[in-house]
Amino acid sequence: MTIRDLLQSAQETLGTLEQPRLEAMLLLEHSLGRPRSWLIAHDDEAPDTRQQATFQQLLERRAQGEPLAYITGKREFWSLALEVNPDVLIPRPETELLVETALERIPVSESAQIADLGSGSGAITLAIASERPRATVIGVEFHPGALGVAQRNARRHNLDNVLFIHGPWLAPLHGRRFDVIVSNPPYVAEADPHLDALSYEPRSALAAGPDGLRDLRSIVADASAHLQPHGWLLLEHGADQGDAVRDLFAQSGFSDIETRRDLAGLERVTLGGRHG
Ligand code: GLN
Repeated sequence: MTIRDLLQSAQETLGTLEQPRLEAMLLLEHSLGRPRSWLIAHDDEAPDTRQQATFQQLLERRAQGEPLAYITGKREFWSLALEVNPDVLIPRPETELLVETALERIPVSESAQIADLGSGSGAITLAIASERPRATVIGVEFHPGALGVAQRNARRHNLDNVLFIHGPWLAPLHGRRFDVIVSNPPYVAEADPHLDALSYEPRSALAAGPDGLRDLRSIVADASAHLQPHGWLLLEHGADQGDAVRDLFAQSGFSDIETRRDLAGLERVTLGGRHG
């Protein structure tokens, strides 16, 4: 089969996905180790049988529901090409709102101290570090496998203003204070049927107790002790958790509490300041 035929039949195999043609192309790029421009220019050539077999296997995995990012081992976030594997949550586009909102509060010309709790692949940590070279960004991660992914991603992008630390949430940051603390913790309720569709991703990065607020609650409660006066806490949360999260911030004495909506118009990031 030629490249054109392979793409045509792959597109049919992936017919139930939103973007079958694009995904077929990305899988073929990955299988042959060739960029799209090459595939298009050589679409009347036939890859050898071994390459075709590899492509068919990857296609089958995708058709079974495995996320594309785990099959290709990579995902882009904030224009950074990142390694991902099943030890880490696949970075979501809506999380760029958390980065954007944090950057508004991190001066370009001063050496701010930033912490990212539950850094996973390092997506948020590295996006902030790449935009604020004078800041020091500490990513905290509990799972050793994820820590390895984040460290490799930092090296890949030559970011030397980041440091990854092992531990749960704020515990390993004992005695340190930050100008900005950000986190995209797990926030899905344990019984949420939405979790079934995310079964390839680490449950520990997604589910957080009966109401999904377990980790948001503990981070908000502990954050003040780790913030500089006038520091900020910014948290991603579920679209229906805005009220609850604003209450948590208020109960812990934060001021200037507000919630930002993502591109889909959903409440997604709540922030508050520590004053005095
Ligand atoms: N936004 C993710 C989803 O619902 C959940 C991420 C998280 O729990 N931090 O697909």
